[in-house]
Amino acid sequence: MLSNNLEFKKLLLLHGKDRRKQSMETEFNNLPNSISHIESKIEIENATIASATQELRSLETESNSLENEINSLSEQIVRQKNKQLEVKKNEEYQALENEIAGLIDQQSQKEDDHIKILLKLDDAKETSKIAESKICEKVKLLEADRKNLSEKGTELKSEIDRLKSEIEETTSGIDEELLHGYARTKKVVSRPPYIAPLEEQKCSGCNLRVSNDVVSSVLVEQKLTHCDQCGRIVYFER
Ligand SMILES: [Zn+2]
Repeated sequence: MLSNNLEFKKLLLLHGKDRRKQSMETEFNNLPNSISHIESKIEIENATIASATQELRSLETESNSLENEINSLSEQIVRQKNKQLEVKKNEEYQALENEIAGLIDQQSQKEDDHIKILLKLDDAKETSKIAESKICEKVKLLEADRKNLSEKGTELKSEIDRLKSEIEETTSGIDEELLHGYARTKKVVSRPPYIAPLEEQKCSGCNLRVSNDVVSSVLVEQKLTHCDQCGRIVYFER
């Protein structure tokens, strides 16, 4: 079958549309995967922000509780000092003095701890501010990607629908026997193309050399001919 045969030209046209539709369908079917891949990336970024926020909160809580402890120690110190003013016995006075010294020690230890926490808190705030703005940028980009993909899905869907109706139209104008041969080829050949031109004596679908019978069937008998290696429909482009 030669490519200048009108019926065969229609079949080639159908083949082209079929292949376009198949590759779009593959792309369309892969979209949910790509979208969920992006969504899991967004989730990871958001979780990073959440854990940084969590760390800040726990430092803040720690700082508040230290502050409360320090205040309560101050109150205890004032109370014991007031008591000291009222005691008469020297040993009672001395006992209070020791107690007060212990409280002051505790207080100064807590104050040191508090300062360490405040420094950590400052660092954590700074780091989380920088990280958060970087992550927000990333998330924005990822969200834009996701939007693009879902728009792409809509485009592909309408393009596939358009091709389907074009394929129907093209099919209705083609000889039954040719269509039957084409449909059978599509079942036999595992992947496109289903129709491949012969180059020299090689099938361009499988790159293997076809027999002289195949060449003569195409050139002389001008029949619908299959590659004797891969089963694709073969023809000469001239
Ligand atoms: Zn072949």
